[in-house]
Parts: sequence; structure tokens; C-alpha cells
Amino acid sequence: MGVRVYELAKEFSLSSKDLVKTLKGMHIPVKGHMSALDDETAEIVRHELLSENKKVEKQKEAKRKSKLKKLMVDFPLTVKNLSVKLQISTTELIKKLMKMKVMATVNTNLEEEVVNKVGMDYGFKIEQQPSEEEVLLAGHKEPENDSGNLVHRSPVVTFMGHVDHGKTSLLDVIRRSNVTVKESGGITQHIGAYEVQFKKGTITFLDTPGHEAFTAMRARGANITDIVILVVAADDGLMPQTIEAINHAKAAGVPIVVAINKIDLPGADPDNVKRQLAEKELTSEDWGGNTITVPVSAKDGTGIDKLLEMIILESELLELKANPEKPARGVIIESKLSKGSGPTVTVLVQNGTLRVGDLFVCGVTFGKVRAMIDDFGKRVQEAGPSVPVEVSGLSQVPQVGDGFFVVEDEKKARELSLQKNEVSRQQNLMPSQRMSLEQLFEKAQEGEVKELKVVIKADVQGSLEALGSSLEKLGTADIVVKIIHSQVGSINESDVMLAIASDAVIIGFHVSIENNAKEEADLKSVDVRLYKIIYEAINDVRLSMEGLLEPKIKETFIGRVKVLQIFKVSKVGKIAGGVVVKGKFMRSADLVRLYREDQCLYEGKLESLKRYKDDVKEVSEGVECGIALNNFTNILPEDIVECFHVEKIARKL
Ligand code: GDP
Ligand code: MG
Repeated sequence: MGVRVYELAKEFSLSSKDLVKTLKGMHIPVKGHMSALDDETAEIVRHELLSENKKVEKQKEAKRKSKLKKLMVDFPLTVKNLSVKLQISTTELIKKLMKMKVMATVNTNLEEEVVNKVGMDYGFKIEQQPSEEEVLLAGHKEPENDSGNLVHRSPVVTFMGHVDHGKTSLLDVIRRSNVTVKESGGITQHIGAYEVQFKKGTITFLDTPGHEAFTAMRARGANITDIVILVVAADDGLMPQTIEAINHAKAAGVPIVVAINKIDLPGADPDNVKRQLAEKELTSEDWGGNTITVPVSAKDGTGIDKLLEMIILESELLELKANPEKPARGVIIESKLSKGSGPTVTVLVQNGTLRVGDLFVCGVTFGKVRAMIDDFGKRVQEAGPSVPVEVSGLSQVPQVGDGFFVVEDEKKARELSLQKNEVSRQQNLMPSQRMSLEQLFEKAQEGEVKELKVVIKADVQGSLEALGSSLEKLGTADIVVKIIHSQVGSINESDVMLAIASDAVIIGFHVSIENNAKEEADLKSVDVRLYKIIYEAINDVRLSMEGLLEPKIKETFIGRVKVLQIFKVSKVGKIAGGVVVKGKFMRSADLVRLYREDQCLYEGKLESLKRYKDDVKEVSEGVECGIALNNFTNILPEDIVECFHVEKIARKL
């Protein structure tokens, strides 16, 4: 029994001479390569050599990694910009991406993961430059646990509803009733929002009634409304724009409180309104539903207090919180250039407290708060969460919907606004990547969508219903088709805004698209599809959704090999020698995984399967074999390699 030195040396691809040296170092007395070691000693030596092997591999790995040069990049990163960074042509990069199954054009924005992989292949370790904005905003990020500083903030509400149902009148009557409460300068000063303080609490009203403005803000990324007040005239009932408003509010996930207005009129029929609301899944509370409805009259003031009370009640459920101790962050809700004081904006503070003298960045511009005026035209020194204020001190006029945030120092503010300028310039050059039917498949594969949102417009109610229910039926357990808005009429700008804000596609049946809506849709790459045959519309959606569905993948375990040692084979490279400990090992396996200490280090294909020097198709349990993996040479003794059959089961809707 026992093992001779040369045999042991061969096991570890060492020369006998080196092994003898090692053995001497371990104080194991040997004469030369023919010396025999007893089994126990041999085991100890094997163990030592294995751990030595691991160390060396680790060092190599570390060396390989440290050899990668650092490459600082900035996201979003286009193919073009990455090619410049890597100093390769865009064509080469696009080809490379295609091999990775990433379809891209020069202007496509690349995902971080893809960039990392590509970088690695070109010898770079990609590191992301923290943007100035990130650095600056770091101070604004919610600390893990600042609940101690969080206090209640008042709700921000918007009036919506059909034209002439009384939105403006209600806003006016509420503001007028409040003037007396505040006992200040009247209602001449008019900024884009105002606060109403009454006995039960404070409410901030946005003075841009209508769902168009609401959704336009949302399309710009500014969700500022906490509660929507749906105004329905009691003598008229639910009208087309009421339905639009309902759908826009629902798409935004904003709760709705209904004001049934004009109850002073003889033709008022609040029950009819409630019945219609129930059809839209807004069943009134007194009818057993969850929607608060309040009968009001803007003309004689009936129910206004009750409406305010109900808004407070609804807002309490929302548990609106903010931290007034932070530097302020808000959204521009109005913006103008006035002769006296230059650009002025109305900011709705969302978090923190804004003070005169604060430095800020806003959209692509920056400045210092010179003066602040509240909704009654009074100068104020500070404004907390949910408070709207007019601010002067800007260098340029920003856009409505732009973010506004206070920063620490002027240099940073300047740099940051320059950078934002650059970003916005690039964004304008880049075609925006919005949802389209073609992209659904890709996006679903990236795990981005599991829901297809659709806006439907048709010429008659009948087709609308047929189309809507057929489309919804296409949904599966994995992908839901959600009709966020459906209505008779041509495709208008508000439909397009809704699609932008909600990442939806628009399907028109026997209708046209209005000119301004078309321009906006083209500009923002909204997928608008017009059909004359219902079947075609349904089929298009079905086809894109079939792509949407990830094929079901079924894995079947075939066998497991335990790696015992590594051989170097001339021309072939390294081969891992091992034994099949379970099942059998098959050359034709679809998938192979390598585990080291329960960690999966490799997932891919088998490069070769050998018995001695011969390639074989399969190796049975208990038999030794040699394996090589595709593009993975870092195999070590003790590694476990498993192989599987993989079946892709394509799914039909
Ligand atoms: P908006 O288009 O929704 O902003 O509606 P307005 O506030 O401009 O109101 C449209 C019309 O309805 C105006 O002539 C108002 O005077 C009238 N109106 C508004 N509220 C009431 C109400 O409660 N009762 C009556 N009788 N008329 C009202
Ligand atoms: Mg109005």
C-alpha cells in the first residue's frame, strides 16, 4: 500500500523534484521520487497541496482582477459614449452587444450590467461616477430612520371634472371663505395654489383645475396631488371629461373624493350621480361603497365645510408625512418672467423648509431665494411642507414640473445646473424610450413589465366595450392587460399625456388622432395605433404579448461529478478529473453548474467530457471522468459539477 512520490506529484501536475522539496518543508523524510508514503501521510500531503492550490488560484484571480484598468463612466450611458470611452468604433460595440443579445443603436442607453460585462471583456473595471446631483442630493435622502423628525403635512388637492360643472366656482368659494379666516390682503394676489386653514386642519389647493394639467405634471415626473376632488354637476351627471378625470386619477393611484355640485338647482339629482359613480367602481359610502361623496353648492355655499372636513378625513388615512428640518425640496407649479423681479416661480414645498437666502437648483437653473410671497401676497421668511410660495431670485425661467431643491454652496449649485443643462440637452437629442407594443417583449424579459396598460378610443360605445373586454381577456396570470382609460372620441392630447404618465399604449378604433396630440405623441414616442378591424387590434396585442411571456423553463437533474484533481493536457488545457457520484454525466446536457462550498460559480455549457484521452458521450455513476467547462478554467479539487436537461416550454396565450 502507499503512494509513491512521483504518483502524488502527477496527481497535482507537479514535478517530483518540487514535491520532494515541499515534503521536506513539511518535515516528511523522503529520499527521491520513488519513495513511498503511507496512506495517512499521503492524505495529509494531498490536503496541504489542495489548500496551496486554492491559495494560488485565489492569488491569480486577484491578480487578474487588479489588472483590469478602472474606467469611470456616467449613467445614462449611450452606446456612442461607451464606444468613445473604450476607444472602439460604435460598429464594433454594436456587434459585441448583439452577441450578448442586446439590440442597440448608437443612441440607446445601456444598462449598468451590460456596461460592466462589456467593460470587463475590454479589460476595464467599470466604476460609476457619482453624479454631482447625487452627491448634493445625498443630503436630501431620507435617512434610514428619521421617523422621529417626521411630522404631519397637509394634503395637496386638485379639482377635476367636466367643463362647467363648477371647478373654478368651488375653488373661488373656498378661497373667499378663507380670506376672512386669514384676515389678510384679499384675493387679488393669485399664485398657483393656496392654503386653506379651517378648524379641522389645513388643505393646500392647486389652482389648476382639470385632469389635463394634473396628468401633464405627472408626465413630467411630478406627482404632487394627494387627493383628487371630482366635481360632478348634480343636474348633468357623469360626462365624458368626468370619466377622463376618473381614469386619470385612478391611473395615478390618487384617491378620489366626489363633490356633487349645483344641488341648489331644481333639476339636481344626486342619486343619479351616485348610480353612475357606482358603475365606475366609485360607489358612494352611503350606498355601501368606499367613496366619499359630498353634496355641495358653490352658489349658496351648502356643504363646503363638510367637503373640507371630508378631505381632511381622507387625508388622515394617507398618513402624509414630511420632515421640516431638512433643506427644502419641491416642485415648480407656476413659472413666469415678471418685469420687476425677473423670473419668478411658485414652488410647492414637498419636504423640508424653504427660507429666504437659501441657495437652490431648479430644473436647469439655479439661484438664491431673494424673496418669498405667500398665497395672500404677504412676504414670508420661510415655507414648510405642503406650502406653496412664490419665489424670486432665479437666473432663468424653469419649466412647470421641474424639481426644486436647496443646496449647500453656490459653486455646487452652479456646477450642478451646468450638468443638468448638459443632461437635458442630451435627452433632447436622444429618442426617448417609451413603451411600444414592439418593446413589450424585451421589457418583459428584463422583468420590467408584467402589465400592459392600454388607452382605448373608439367611435361608438359598442366597439369600445368589445375591444376592451377582448383585450382584457388576453391577459394571463403573468401579464395583465389593464385598460386605464376607454372612451368614445378621437385621440386627444390628454390621452397622450395619460399614456406618457402611465407608460401605456394607445389604441384607436375608427377614430383619428388630433393634430396637437399627434405632435406630442411623436415627440414623446408614444405608441399610437389606429385600427379599422377589431380582430387586427386584438391580434397585434396578442402577438406582442406572446413575446411578452417568458417561456417556462423546466430543469431536470442528470448527474453530479465531484472534482478530485486538475490535469494539464497539452493542446486542450486544463481538465478536471473527477468521479460521477450521482446519476450520470452527459456530454449533451443543456446546462452545467459548478458549485464551490455551496456557491454557484459557473453556469453554462460543458466543453468536453472524457474518459482517459477519449471524448465520450456519457459517464455512469461511480466512474471517473475528465471534464472541461466552456470559458471557465478556475476549477479546483472538491468542486461539484452538476449537469441538467433544460426544456423551454413556449406558452400561448
Ligand atoms: P368649471 O368649468 O368646472 O370651472 O365650471 P365653473 O366654475 O366655471 O362653473 C360653470 C358655471 O356653473 C358657471 O356659470 C357657474 O356660475 C355655475 N355654477 C357653478 N357652481 C354652481 C352651483 O353650485 N350652483 C349653480 N346654480 N351654478 C353653479
Ligand atoms: Mg374652470
